[in-house]
Amino acid sequence: MPLKISYRTINKEFQDKVKEISGQSFYKCFQCGTCAGSCPMSEQMNTTPRKLMALLQLGREVMLDEVNTPWVCASCYTCEVRCPRGIDIPRIMEALRLITLRQNRNQIEPSNLQPEEIIDLPQIAMVSGFRKFTG
Ligand code: SF4
Ligand code: SF4
Repeated sequence: MPLKISYRTINKEFQDKVKEISGQSFYKCFQCGTCAGSCPMSEQMNTTPRKLMALLQLGREVMLDEVNTPWVCASCYTCEVRCPRGIDIPRIMEALRLITLRQNRNQIEPSNLQPEEIIDLPQIAMVSGFRKFTG
């Protein structure tokens, strides 16, 4: 389903927080699309990394409630290696995840896992998942 963009005024505080946590400047992005074209997870994303950079430049914090990109990102670093502007995109994804999790907005609830799921899931996958998706 195409993503509906909600327009709001620029949230400078949000932009500063992303920059502070990631240590990266999304303003350097010139929208070449190399990251989107290289990302092995892009088919699962409702917004490409390129578009996410544009939304960050516009300060659209509200998009974090709707964009699944940081959660789907596998931190494979393909985009980071290929970005002509040298932006460490996975670090920006991590910053976006942290901002959400620090608001106690878990993406999965461990207590909701069913016993049969726990038996089936490899422990290392569960630990990795909890690290990524819970605060
Ligand atoms: S590869 Fe870099 S410059 Fe190109 S769209 Fe992605 S983040 Fe922007
Ligand atoms: S680090 Fe994330 S966004 Fe970048 S190419 Fe890999 S999966 Fe895609």
